Amino acid sequence: MPLPDRDTLVAYPAGDVSSTGTVLHVERLADGRSAVVLDRTALHPVDTAWPDQPADRAALRWGDDERVVQDGVTGGIHQGVLHLGADLPVRNGTEGWTFVVAHVIEGAPPAVGTTVEVEVDAAYRRSLSAGHTGCHLASLALDAALAAAWSKPVALDALGHPAFDQLAIQRSQIVPDGSLDTYRVGRSLRRKGFDPAALDDPGAVAERANALLTTWVTAGGDVRIERTDDALSARRRWVCALPDGPVSIPCGGTHVESLSALGSVTVALTTRPVDGGLELEMRTQVTPAR
Ligand SMILES: [Zn+2]
Repeated sequence: MPLPDRDTLVAYPAGDVSSTGTVLHVERLADGRSAVVLDRTALHPVDTAWPDQPADRAALRWGDDERVVQDGVTGGIHQGVLHLGADLPVRNGTEGWTFVVAHVIEGAPPAVGTTVEVEVDAAYRRSLSAGHTGCHLASLALDAALAAAWSKPVALDALGHPAFDQLAIQRSQIVPDGSLDTYRVGRSLRRKGFDPAALDDPGAVAERANALLTTWVTAGGDVRIERTDDALSARRRWVCALPDGPVSIPCGGTHVESLSALGSVTVALTTRPVDGGLELEMRTQVTPAR
């Protein structure tokens, strides 16, 4: 059976937590497990190049069989070879490649051609979606709270503030109902015109960001994912209505449908000295709406 020549169609950007698909390919892994590729799926896989949102928890069902999905990873097919997860050497969307969602399971896999149901753990997804929406809001609020710290023109974020988040981000990890973002403020950021003294009192920066976050969440704007088509590698954007207008950020993850689903979003900021500068950690906490 040849490898798929088309991207997996993905339903998670629309918020779906279940789907029906046909098995196109089963790859036997070195550890004895199997990676199952379907024509379509609701399962959000972790993105190899920017692994901010973890994979969904899910089960595959066919006939009387059921398997827990142990890993949901992104695969890329190039010149007849499937590269999975950490072995994928290119970013999702790279020209000349086909991108697929691989459902890694233990035990006998379904045969090619079998119709398989994908059932995603909806509560876990919901907590990651809330965390991811909160993460985007927090990054915009942080940019706004640090806007006065810049002395030179730099790239701007979706709200028109100097893009501290984009320029300084090292790691972003979405967790259930929150996120943890790590930034580096070193020589290159100082050269771009950022004054590190703006972070002398991280509590004061957090206070400004939290005031904005309260305003935004209280306004309860709509959130949606815009995409060119349903293919895994299609470009997708997070679009959110904020009081000053809609904002739009490239994003491959999942989100709540409205800020009214969030009770509150708050950030806590801490800094620590590192070689040549400092590291800023932003912990974002989301509480669901009652
Ligand atoms: Zn995102």
